[in-house]
Amino acid sequence: MALCAGLGLWLVASAVAPTTVSAQISLVSVAQEIEIGKAADAQVRKDMPELRDAEVAAYVQGIGRRLVAKASGPRYPYAFAVVNNREVNAFALPGGPIWMMRGVFQTATNESQVAGVLAHEVAHVAQRHAASKLTQATLANWGLDLLGAVLGNTAGAGAAQMAAGLLTSGVFLKFSRDDEREADRVGLEMMRRAGWDPRGMVELFALLQREQQRNPGSVEAFFSSHPSPADRMAELQGRIGRTPTGRRDTPQFQRIKARVMRMR
Ligand SMILES: [Zn+2]
Repeated sequence: MALCAGLGLWLVASAVAPTTVSAQISLVSVAQEIEIGKAADAQVRKDMPELRDAEVAAYVQGIGRRLVAKASGPRYPYAFAVVNNREVNAFALPGGPIWMMRGVFQTATNESQVAGVLAHEVAHVAQRHAASKLTQATLANWGLDLLGAVLGNTAGAGAAQMAAGLLTSGVFLKFSRDDEREADRVGLEMMRRAGWDPRGMVELFALLQREQQRNPGSVEAFFSSHPSPADRMAELQGRIGRTPTGRRDTPQFQRIKARVMRMR
């Protein structure tokens, strides 16, 4: 039933807009998204080294909690963790798990920049970008077997296997330009409402551009999965206005940055 209803909806939508599946039309429920995200998170934990440092983790989780309190959308079980590598990047999995690379601390110069990175990722989750990617991937590439798996019982090995496949194919890690723009816009508002200076998001893009000149390897993944920072900066600048307010930095940020800089 669900399958027929879902496809019917999609066919109606495609008659109106043949090239895109609207974000509003999703074959994936919030509960399924959370289930798939949990399995993807377990896979990430196998594939990537987590930075196991209680102070750094607590700091990132604290920023995350304050942002999530201002997030719209379904009440996802958000969780924040740090990958122990020097890349400057972050990613969100369906339904709430968010990972930030340790390299963000090495590059960022104040707390509002880290808040900007996390706000962008929370916005991807809150706007259900993964659900629309899953819907598109299912319809475009994966055929009805996967559709059946998504719509049917996603518990246990089925969801885990599918999540692993989708992670490998990059379905969760590369969003459309429109989704990236929306995550910037929604994230900017979120960080502003949570009390940070929104200029931090733009500053981080400038740092990423500088990093691309100095140390291209550390930002390669970011540049391959995101639109150019120059375009995004120009768009955000217009939204920030002339009198930015909010928190820019804290002593905790500088302490955590120094701690991360000392790590090998
Ligand atoms: Zn993004």
